[in-house]
Amino acid sequence: MEKIINAIFPPRCVFCGALGDVFCENCISNCSLMQEQRCLICDRPSDNGYTHQNHFLTPQFGNNPGNYENKLKDASTSEKDTFGTLNSRLTYPTQIVCPFIYEKNVRECIRLSKYSSRLFSCLKRLSFEGVNIVYEWGYSFNDFVVVPIPVSKKKENLRGFNQADIIAKIFAKRFNILVDTSILNRIKDKHAQHSLSREERFQNVKDAFVADRKVEGKRVVLVDDICTTGATFLEASKVLFENGALDVKCFALSKKL
Ligand SMILES: [Zn+2]
Ligand SMILES: [Zn+2]
Repeated sequence: MEKIINAIFPPRCVFCGALGDVFCENCISNCSLMQEQRCLICDRPSDNGYTHQNHFLTPQFGNNPGNYENKLKDASTSEKDTFGTLNSRLTYPTQIVCPFIYEKNVRECIRLSKYSSRLFSCLKRLSFEGVNIVYEWGYSFNDFVVVPIPVSKKKENLRGFNQADIIAKIFAKRFNILVDTSILNRIKDKHAQHSLSREERFQNVKDAFVADRKVEGKRVVLVDDICTTGATFLEASKVLFENGALDVKCFALSKKL
């Protein structure tokens, strides 16, 4: 159907008007890439978006990985988790990767795709591109299951879809892994986040999610459209870890700098 419509009314690029594609090759290649990934916790540069080791340390270790290593040497088996790391380590996502910077066409595409089917096709196009870029960068998510950040049922019914679902499907296909939308549910909608301070954003998503017990023993890659402060990813990963997730990584199509 889409093909027939495209043949009769060839799509024009939403951004420059060129004929042929809703988001043309040229406009896509003008989207700024995240040349340097950042740590989810402190927002400072980190290799491949790995969470800096020192964030995993509880106050008892001070802010010094050396203290942790010493404690680990003396620890008994019961004090260690399945990775042989200390139970008392804090649990955070171990890595985040974002292909695009949230600005210009990327921002327009994500912001407006909620409201029109034409812009919705743009989001798909951008997602293919972003996912492919991360794949080409050499990231891999073997043994992970893809979980889109959910919106509440109420909001999904109102809008008809969840943007993160679309991105998650494209992501899963590229990395040859599965999506599971039943692992994480949203019980509280967030208010519009853009006008909020960092603190308010964390408050805004507090207790917003519940996880299913079946996440136990699984490694999860959370998928969303934008990462701003990381509050949403952190809150979601908290309930996943509480329910027995082994590892959580994050993919956001764009990163707000
Ligand atoms: Zn264009
Ligand atoms: Zn950090």
